Amino acid sequence: MTDVVATNETILVVGGGVSGMTTALEAAEAGKQVILVEKRPYVGGRVTQLYKYFPKLCFPTCGLEINQRRTKMNRNITVLTMAEVTSLTGGEGDYTASVKISPRYVNENCTACGACEDAVEAEFDDEHNYGLSKHKGAYRGHRMAYPERYIIEPAMIGTADADKAKAACKYDAIDLDMQEETVDLKVGAVVYATGWRPYDANKIQPYGYDRFPNVVTSVEFERMKDPMGPTGGKVLRPSDGKEASDIAFIQCAGSRDRNYLKHCSRICCMATLKQTTYVSEMEDGKSTVYYIDIRAIDRFEDFYKNVQADEKVTFIKSKPAFITEEAESRNPVVQGVNTEGYHRYATPHDLVVLAVGMEPSVDASTLPEGISINEHGFIENDGTNGGVFAAGCASDALDVNRAVQSATACALKAIQVVNRVAGSEG
Ligand SMILES: Cc1cc2nc3c(=O)[nH]c(=O)nc-3n(C[C@H](O)[C@H](O)[C@H](O)COP(=O)(O)OP(=O)(O)OC[C@H]3O[C@@H](n4cnc5c(N)ncnc54)[C@H](O)[C@@H]3O)c2cc1C
Repeated sequence: MTDVVATNETILVVGGGVSGMTTALEAAEAGKQVILVEKRPYVGGRVTQLYKYFPKLCFPTCGLEINQRRTKMNRNITVLTMAEVTSLTGGEGDYTASVKISPRYVNENCTACGACEDAVEAEFDDEHNYGLSKHKGAYRGHRMAYPERYIIEPAMIGTADADKAKAACKYDAIDLDMQEETVDLKVGAVVYATGWRPYDANKIQPYGYDRFPNVVTSVEFERMKDPMGPTGGKVLRPSDGKEASDIAFIQCAGSRDRNYLKHCSRICCMATLKQTTYVSEMEDGKSTVYYIDIRAIDRFEDFYKNVQADEKVTFIKSKPAFITEEAESRNPVVQGVNTEGYHRYATPHDLVVLAVGMEPSVDASTLPEGISINEHGFIENDGTNGGVFAAGCASDALDVNRAVQSATACALKAIQVVNRVAGSEG
């Protein structure tokens, strides 16, 4: 049984991405008790799936490592992974959260030695790589995953492979009898840091993501360029495994469009500008960016100017109408009208990357009644939500810099709530 101590002076943080980790760390380092609930088997959220960060083009692993170390060393933070808040009731200073914890089938004895992984044969789609590769039935989320513990895929339980994994473990770390459990936590303030998910590209029918293998999404492209990713850092065409060099990026794929996502995620322009730098580093690499307008906010204008000056990058002001596919080569052909000069184009590329928008991933049905949610599904910090706050991409589509600022602000708001509780009881 999971043993968690919580009182109405405890702050609950839902979601352990960069925002949730920031809120948890800021509050814990200010002396508050924090419970961080993360539904994946590891913390870090979607930045663990990025190759590099704009604007500095550094690796996210660096900041992640620092946050993980701070979390590990802070006794005020309890991290619950594979855990989800299924309901939240009550009011400011007095909430009850029901948390469902799924079995990992691996206990604290695990040293992440990997013997269980070597012992099993079954393979499953790797969610960390957006399904572009498989992982074994005994696996670690990714190479830097925290907690540093393996996971046994639930679908393997009851099979000979699961027994092989158990037999291979010298540390008695595999417990195939683990069960799902639910714990009720009493807490004073709650910060939702549930983040975002990529818009489902299958819905954008004219672009053929569901039909053309060489049409991929921006999040998949990040994984391809990661040397630890599914293609070892090479941009390989899903149709034939050949290296792609002529790469097109389609901006606002499904965004700012009443048929799909109405809002602008703001990040996609910068994400694409960053990804063109990945392509320019490749021998023979060249990028074509199809765009309505480029929203390189604030100081990112310089980044945009540098990319514009790169001869390997072409900008075409146009929202493509649709994509077809050349029969033999399987090259996607981008079709539309260039609004500068108004001529039609039908241009084949080796690979097309759809810059998909960011949708909020919060499940509104788990929130207490009356929490403000805007028309796009993000939680509004409008001062009417009692002791509930939204950090990072639970509140809007934000880059990491802004997500961290918002998460720090939420830590302060949550501290104020639990301090009021402490004051009224003292
Ligand atoms: C293609 C692309 C490239 C990008 N590149 C950059 C870049 O280079 N630089 C930059 O600054 N920004 C970049 N971003 C934006 C960046 O990814 C976000 O700013 C960042 O992920 C926000 O972190 P977050 O913690 O708010 O959300 P997330 O990273 O989504 O983390 C949310 C966490 O909450 C968990 N969660 C969700 N629901 C629940 C639940 N009910 N219970 C428990 N846990 C839950 C999730 O599993 C996840 O771990 C990029 C975005 C895209 C689309």
